[in-house]
Amino acid sequence: MKERPIVSEQEMQRQREYMVRVRALEKRPKRYHIVTMGCQMNERDSESIAGMLSAMGMVNEPVREQADLILYNTCCVRENAENKALGNVIWLKELKKDKPDLMICVGGCMTQEKGMAAMMKKRYPFIDLVYGTHNLYKLPEYVYRVLTEGEPIAEVMDIDGEVVEGMPEARRCRFNAFVNIMYGCDNFCTYCIVPYVRGRERSRTPEAVLEECARLRDDGAQEIMLLGQNVNSYGGGGARFAELLYRVDQLGIPRIRFMTSHPKDLSDELINAFGELKHLMPQLHLPVQAGSNEVLRRMNRRYTREHYVALVGKLRKVCPDIGLTSDIIVGFPGETLEQFEETMSLVREVRFDAAYTFIYSPRAGTRAAEYPDDTPYEVKSERIQRLIDLQQAISLEVLEKQVGKRERVLVEAVSTRDSMSVGGKTPRGHMVNFPGEASLIGQFVDVEITSAGRNTLRGRQIMTEE
Ligand code: SF4
Repeated sequence: MKERPIVSEQEMQRQREYMVRVRALEKRPKRYHIVTMGCQMNERDSESIAGMLSAMGMVNEPVREQADLILYNTCCVRENAENKALGNVIWLKELKKDKPDLMICVGGCMTQEKGMAAMMKKRYPFIDLVYGTHNLYKLPEYVYRVLTEGEPIAEVMDIDGEVVEGMPEARRCRFNAFVNIMYGCDNFCTYCIVPYVRGRERSRTPEAVLEECARLRDDGAQEIMLLGQNVNSYGGGGARFAELLYRVDQLGIPRIRFMTSHPKDLSDELINAFGELKHLMPQLHLPVQAGSNEVLRRMNRRYTREHYVALVGKLRKVCPDIGLTSDIIVGFPGETLEQFEETMSLVREVRFDAAYTFIYSPRAGTRAAEYPDDTPYEVKSERIQRLIDLQQAISLEVLEKQVGKRERVLVEAVSTRDSMSVGGKTPRGHMVNFPGEASLIGQFVDVEITSAGRNTLRGRQIMTEE
């Protein structure tokens, strides 16, 4: 992986000065509302955005309609995510008629798509700011210019992103934190738009990652998730991902997880880490995407079904209780019924704890978007329904096997279905709900699993004398 320049300290200082200037402009604090779409990388970006807006003297407003600044942090991995974002933007036009001073900002992966910023500028002139993934750090400057010059800005950088350090941050949660270790992707899977909108792979240095993790630990983090489009090809300062993981483990944070892993880059060294590291949780998201070697070849995934199954065997040998989850695409262009059945048989063979299943969504500019695709949508819908039914049956069996076990749960939130219950994850990543009070949030609780539902477990808290 190539080393990439870090945005200079001088440039970051410029941006900090803009934050101060924005703060000085306002008599009362502006209220901001961020809408985050897509993956954990976007969630982490939104924490940086919130940090910058707070440093500009603004305060978070939970109700979108009452905000003075609304920012959409968009996704474009599937067409429906993009349609949803554009639909929301059109709705904002109506809101702005009632609130002419409302500032509307749109950024993230969708705006980084080729031609998107120019299109938005032309068709949605009421948007005050459009920026991309590579110039997020310039948000303070853009906000200042919009406020002082009153002209809309649409600026997206084409250059591959640089690694940005030192952005302010407003973490969504103290005890459970995301840490970016790398950005971008070099793999060019033929269906995927990520390399076009997030740029080439570039890693943070181990020192920067370790310093951030240590800071989070000192601030009360109980669990961290190391993030990257393909963490397995991390290469900051020449270090391999497994090496970084061993060093993070030594910091003593109780729980470490990571995502996402490309199967072709999952090394034996990394697999062995699941058997050796004290704090690495027995959970791995390992997207397989398809069970047919021919489909995998046309996806440019660069592994075979046999290789994938062998990896699963090694992982389960090192860590028998590991929970595996996956992503699967149904209806890739040209997928035959026989090839789909190979995906079904792979799912039966591997028995994932859970799988995120999607009907193939063509993305302009990717190679697969040019492939002939003569499978009717109804056929793809039937196929995905069969796959969902199969995976749900397997997930239920996996969850039922947990009944009777005692698990250590990191409590995350009050249950959405029952305000008298709280929920959190087991080491393997299963969500457990059990009767308990909100004061338990952020704490480890021992729980006996009493029953299994389709996606979650139920349990009861074990008191210390039991
Ligand atoms: S590994 Fe493939 S699917 Fe994952 S981000 Fe890179 S190109 Fe997209």
